[in-house]
Amino acid sequence: MEQAYDGTTRGIILDTGHGTLRDGPGWRSIVYFKGCNFKCAWCGSPETWNRAPEVLFYDDRVKYPERLSATCARGAMRMQGGGLQMDRARCDACKAFSCARCCADGSVELVGREVTVQDIIHDIQPFRRAHSEYGVTLSGGEATLQWDFYMELLKACRAHRLHTAVETNGSSPRLPESFPLLDLVMCDLKHMDSAEHRRWTGHGNEQVLENIRAAARAPDTDLRVRIPLVPEVNGGPVLERMIEFLLPLKDLLDVEILGFHRMGAYKWKALGRPYQFSLTQETPQNEIEQAIMKMTGAGLCVVRS
Ligand code: SF4
Ligand code: SF4
Repeated sequence: MEQAYDGTTRGIILDTGHGTLRDGPGWRSIVYFKGCNFKCAWCGSPETWNRAPEVLFYDDRVKYPERLSATCARGAMRMQGGGLQMDRARCDACKAFSCARCCADGSVELVGREVTVQDIIHDIQPFRRAHSEYGVTLSGGEATLQWDFYMELLKACRAHRLHTAVETNGSSPRLPESFPLLDLVMCDLKHMDSAEHRRWTGHGNEQVLENIRAAARAPDTDLRVRIPLVPEVNGGPVLERMIEFLLPLKDLLDVEILGFHRMGAYKWKALGRPYQFSLTQETPQNEIEQAIMKMTGAGLCVVRS
């Protein structure tokens, strides 16, 4: 039976990507939701944390400081020490976003926009027609935080016979309600110790572990557990504990190891937030290989992206 959905349901997204071969099987579109309840210290997409639209400010790109300074009625764009700086304490992310709209040098970027479910389905259609098998991945941020939008978009994808996947931090107690609408759940596993998980992400891991167990048991939904290997956070003995946890479920899931990278560092700066991994080495390939060998040696199925 065709799944009914409400195409007028609104949500805030960062962006969409279409016609990619990433983040799920085959050709697909990716929808990046705004808003995340975790605050992972190594996050590569910190501009997704706030649900509301906001601005990124790149001080090294400013070419017309006086002009830019004049765009903000609240005086948040201020000349200081011979250069233009953004005073975030004065910025209330005004709805006009005149700084971003009038910016002529690429130094201010507005991130976040409101869309409807139908807008997204409309944008997907040309790609859908080009590929007989096509899918959509709901990513973020944390898509489940915008629950109605998340569910209606999944229903719309089902109605249009699109493969559905979610990339989630696994924190929503309601996540299992969406399993009947999902072909694939990709759930992060960041730490096995709840106190350490809280230290690095701001939240304990109990709900994440419960959702991984529930997703493994979901009859028609595949599960991929994604482990970001972050130096000084979760290597060595933590990996052993992850294997212990996952082994009883080994026939019901696969695992992906993700290396730590610093590609999002410039966005932390542009948001005026301190980034504590700026000197941390990116995960060397041989460490990723060692982790994969450990996992496969224990009997887990590991996929490579
Ligand atoms: S869960 Fe993902 S998007 Fe959210 S803070 Fe962590 S890494 Fe960033
Ligand atoms: S978003 Fe609005 S308040 Fe904030 S700096 Fe830009 S113009 Fe000023």
